[in-house]
Amino acid sequence: MNKKYDFLISGAGLVGALTALQLSKHGYSCCLIEKNNLSKSSTLKNYAPLSLNYRSFLILKKFGLWDQVEKFAYPIKKLNLKSFSSLNRLSLKSTDIGLNNLGYVVDRRSLLSIFLDALTQSSKLDIIENNSIKDIEVVSSKDDCIISKIESEKTIESNYLIVSDGIDSRIKNMLNIDSEIIDYSQSSYIYNVKADFEENTAIQIFNKHGIFAAIPYEENYLSIVLSLDKKYEEKYFNGSKPDEDSISAIYKKYIKNISNFEFVSKYSLITSRANNIIKDNILLLGNSSQLLHPVGAQGFNLALRNLETLLKCIQEDSDFSNVSDLINSDRKSAFSNVDYATNIFASDMLLSKIITFTTYNLVKSSPALKTKFLEKILGLEGYPYLSIGIK
Ligand SMILES: Cc1cc2nc3c(=O)[nH]c(=O)nc-3n(C[C@H](O)[C@H](O)[C@H](O)COP(=O)(O)OP(=O)(O)OC[C@H]3O[C@@H](n4cnc5c(N)ncnc54)[C@H](O)[C@@H]3O)c2cc1C
Repeated sequence: MNKKYDFLISGAGLVGALTALQLSKHGYSCCLIEKNNLSKSSTLKNYAPLSLNYRSFLILKKFGLWDQVEKFAYPIKKLNLKSFSSLNRLSLKSTDIGLNNLGYVVDRRSLLSIFLDALTQSSKLDIIENNSIKDIEVVSSKDDCIISKIESEKTIESNYLIVSDGIDSRIKNMLNIDSEIIDYSQSSYIYNVKADFEENTAIQIFNKHGIFAAIPYEENYLSIVLSLDKKYEEKYFNGSKPDEDSISAIYKKYIKNISNFEFVSKYSLITSRANNIIKDNILLLGNSSQLLHPVGAQGFNLALRNLETLLKCIQEDSDFSNVSDLINSDRKSAFSNVDYATNIFASDMLLSKIITFTTYNLVKSSPALKTKFLEKILGLEGYPYLSIGIK
């Protein structure tokens, strides 16, 4: 007779690993299944930046993981935004919202290692590597039972299935869940560079060629993220090599002496948003649910909030449809933030430029609006951060 788990989690990336860890910490029996070897789940060779906003810091603290993450986290205290012209600039500081930091930058490989190390110490958890689910049967007469058939011809029974197997989720396809696909006609390149810059300050520049971010992660080192419109891509490359002069020119007001370009990764910016995230007792989390444009670094931050909601609902014994409503409302708000940034701040249409100019100036002139704007981008809207945060 097979053991029946409370949760089966498919995919041990950042989201699946953390979900399995937290559910097992809450006393649920879990099985985590990963198609690769766990020790090889990251293919990245160089420091790979992941921006955690202030809400994510609070969540990781609540999960009891912050002490370990903090050891390699670089604090961000200021964010400089520039849209098209030098007249259109906005500077946001952590002190504007009464906090020490706006968020942190971490190496995603180190973050995953922390989650995976903690997982292997949990007794409430079984891990199956080099395997994946190939078929699912939902047995309603057997009281919330999902039977998952895996590659080795075994079956796993669980009450719930969490699908965190990434953007090409096989299970999402099996469930016939459609997604809205957005092709930005952009490619995102990440390079780590050495440079001189203002400490603890992140930068986001919008112009008609694309969206350019700079995220510091160590004294004199930062990651630059170039989300380039495909038609302008060649302006920033000499063959396959980054054109250091044209890239330096973009950042020149904020960053000097950029050198030592080290390639991290390249993505084609085709993103997806699942139209439905829950079917029976099956929930999509992380990239299987949405892959977002990197502007504003929303992806993992949103997945963390979605996981926080899931844990809260199951602790309160809430209905699964309630989980879906709460998560969907947060997803919609994150999608609208991404759409605002890509359609308004990054657009060279006259109307968008006027709205951007007005937004920046309103935010600059009103401390209350500045706080609201920051709460939006830090995931703090409606969250009692001042009572639980560390000032
Ligand atoms: C350029 C870029 C920059 C980003 N920057 C940020 C940022 O600064 N801040 C932020 O919050 N977010 C950021 N994101 C988003 C963030 O990377 C994702 O939200 C996060 O990695 C999602 O992880 P995941 O675990 O859902 O998916 P994945 O990391 O894709 O993990 C999926 C896991 O499932 C496994 N798997 C796949 N198929 C199967 C199967 N059939 N069976 C079992 N296992 C399977 C895979 O091997 C993998 O281990 C960025 C994204 C991009 C593209």
